[in-house]
Amino acid sequence: MRRMTFDDDHEAFRESCAAFLAKHVEPNLEAYLEDKGLPRDFWLAAGAEGFLGLEIPEEFGGAGAGDFRFNAVLSEEMSKLNAALASCAGIHCDIVAPYVVDLGTDEQKTRWLPGMATGEILTAIAMTEPGGGSDLAALRTTAVRDGNEWVINGSKTFITNGYSADLIVTAVRTSPDKGARGISLFGIEATDIGFSRGRKLDKVGQSESDTAELFFDNVRVGDDRLIGEKDQGFIYMMERLPQERLSCAVSNVAHAKQILAETVQYAHDRHAFKQAIGSLQHNKFLLAELVTKIEVAEAYVDAAVLAHTHGDATAIDAAKAKWWSSEIQNDVLDHCVQLHGGYGFMNEYRVARAWRDARVSKIWAGSNEIMKELIGRDLGF
Ligand SMILES: Cc1cc2nc3c(=O)[nH]c(=O)nc-3n(C[C@H](O)[C@H](O)[C@H](O)COP(=O)(O)OP(=O)(O)OC[C@H]3O[C@@H](n4cnc5c(N)ncnc54)[C@H](O)[C@@H]3O)c2cc1C
Repeated sequence: MRRMTFDDDHEAFRESCAAFLAKHVEPNLEAYLEDKGLPRDFWLAAGAEGFLGLEIPEEFGGAGAGDFRFNAVLSEEMSKLNAALASCAGIHCDIVAPYVVDLGTDEQKTRWLPGMATGEILTAIAMTEPGGGSDLAALRTTAVRDGNEWVINGSKTFITNGYSADLIVTAVRTSPDKGARGISLFGIEATDIGFSRGRKLDKVGQSESDTAELFFDNVRVGDDRLIGEKDQGFIYMMERLPQERLSCAVSNVAHAKQILAETVQYAHDRHAFKQAIGSLQHNKFLLAELVTKIEVAEAYVDAAVLAHTHGDATAIDAAKAKWWSSEIQNDVLDHCVQLHGGYGFMNEYRVARAWRDARVSKIWAGSNEIMKELIGRDLGF
C-alpha cells in the first residue's frame, strides 16, 4: 500500500538524508560502536547539511521546517541504518530543541539555538533520577534560591548524549511541597562549576549512543537559565513528551521494517532441505504475519505523524503509537533472529545487533506500562 503521509518534498528530503548517512555515517559505524558514542564530527557534518535544525527557526540558523513529517523522515532513515543514531539525534533535534524554541527567552535562544543547529552545542534532556523515572513528579534534584542565584543539587541517570552534551535541559524541584507543581526546567551547561558526569554506562544494546549519569553539586545559576516559568516544568514536559513518543514510534517501526526486509532476503538466499528456508511453510506463514504486522503498525504511526503535523495528535495517540510499535518491533526482530539460525546470535550480523538495540524501546520515554496507565486513565479508570 502506498504511504499517504509523505509527499514529494518529504521523499526528496529522504534521498538527501540517505545520501548523507551513506557517505558520512555508514563507513564509521564500527568506530562509533567501539567508542561507545558518536563523535563531534558526526554532529558537525549533520549540522552543516542542515539536518539538526528542523525545529529551529531560520533566524537562529535552523530550517524552521514546521512540519514534523521531515523529522519523521530523518528518524526513519537513521533507524534503518542504526537505532542508536536515531535516538541520539532524536533527543537533540526533536526533543530538546522545542523546549528552547517554545519556552526560551530571546537571550537563551540567541545563546543556544545557533550552536544546536550547527552541532557545536550538543544537547540532552535529564528527567530520570537513580531513584526513579516513571514517577517524574517525585524527582528529588533540587534548585534552592540563594540571593540572585539558584543552587542545584542532585543527580540524574540514563541520560542519552549525557556524556558529551554541552547543554542539558534539566528537571529539578523548585518548590519542595508542591509535587508535580513544584518542578522547573533549567539549562545547565557542561562548563558550569559543580556539574560533572560519570562514565559512559555499559548498555546491553545501542552502544553507539553515549548514556551517562550526571551530578549536580552546588551548581549555581541565575534566572537566565530557567527555561519557561518557575514550577511549570512538569506541564512543559507533559506537553512535549507526546512528540518524543511519536519519534520513538517512528523509529521503532522503521528499524524493524528494515531488518525484516533484510531477513526476507536472507530467507530467499539460505537453503535447507533443498529449498529456500522462506519456502518452508512455517517460515513462509511467519514472514507473511511479520510483514503484515509491520505494515499495520506503520499505518497507525503514519496517521499519528500526520495528525501531529496538523496539531491534532493527543498524548493518548502518542502513548498508543509508542507502546504498540515497540512491542511489534521486538516481536518482529525476535523472529528475525530465529530465521537467521545461529548467525542471528552473532554480533557481526545486523539482525543480532538490531534485536539487542530494540529492547530498550519498551522501557524508555515512559515505559510501556506507563503508556497503558495513560490510556487506561483516558478510558476513565
Ligand atoms: C538507554 C536509555 C536511555 C535513556 N535516556 C533518557 C534520557 O535521555 N533522559 C531521561 O530523562 N531518561 C532517559 N532514560 C530513562 C527512562 O526514561 C527510564 O528508564 C524509564 O522512564 C523508566 O524509569 P525507571 O528506569 O526509573 O524505572 P522505574 O520507574 O523504577 O520502573 C520500574 C518498573 O516498574 C514499572 N512501573 C512503574 N510505575 C508503574 C505503574 N504506575 N504501573 C505499572 N508499572 C509501573 C515500570 O514500567 C518498570 O517496568 C533512558 C533509559 C535508558 C535505558
